[in-house]
Amino acid sequence: MANDLQASSSPVRNRVLTQLAPDDLEALKPLLRPVEFRGRAVLQEANRRVEYVHFIEDGLVSHLSGTRTDFVETAMVGYFGYVGVPLVLGAEVSSQRSVVCMPGTALRIEADDLARVMADRPQIREEMLRYVPALIAQNTQSVLCAAKHEINQRLARWLLLANDRIQSDVLYITHELLAASMGVRRASITNALLQLEADGVVEKRRGAVRIVDRPALENRTCDCYHVVRDAYDRSVVSDCDGHHHDAGHGMIAGTA
Ligand SMILES: [Zn+2]
Repeated sequence: MANDLQASSSPVRNRVLTQLAPDDLEALKPLLRPVEFRGRAVLQEANRRVEYVHFIEDGLVSHLSGTRTDFVETAMVGYFGYVGVPLVLGAEVSSQRSVVCMPGTALRIEADDLARVMADRPQIREEMLRYVPALIAQNTQSVLCAAKHEINQRLARWLLLANDRIQSDVLYITHELLAASMGVRRASITNALLQLEADGVVEKRRGAVRIVDRPALENRTCDCYHVVRDAYDRSVVSDCDGHHHDAGHGMIAGTA
């Protein structure tokens, strides 16, 4: 699925990459390869060696935890993050499965290349580590949410988190995938969506859900959404920290 965009240049969107110092990003650029991913593609299998880090540019990837037959979503990753955290933590194997939830694109780097560039430039690892507490917060909040909160609240939380991560009001998601992500029956999702639609909060489309009234959705979520959002906000450096996070410096050119 690798897509050779050698001749073109496009702005980097991934928030972890755009937070890097310009010379660190420059050092990474020749090693980043643009790839497209389709729905249900597996970016990382559980209990397998991590061969790549995928910096998500567009679309949505689910981290799934479980057994051989039973998986539930523990976190979703969009352009705020990357898939392949174990490599940054010094582990070689992932305990989780990472599956595409909504199609998109990523900038991919091979494990060996990343290890080499992080050895030369330790600041890259430090910046990538800033994302990890936010991801852990999302994992732990997913557990609490599943154990304690009603399906209507959980669905609102899911839609809000997805909306933030893909920056679009139209979420290409089926009832089956939502039900599987949340570990509930499909009928429960259908009923919860019907209620949201009757109240004018969302509009159902074939294979998609459009968020019509986001403030109303925020009123319906449990606090889990805000806990996760705050954790991600803390992972972003502010201007006064003296870091560089201007997306304008992140042009990718000549990647191979
Ligand atoms: Zn909750």
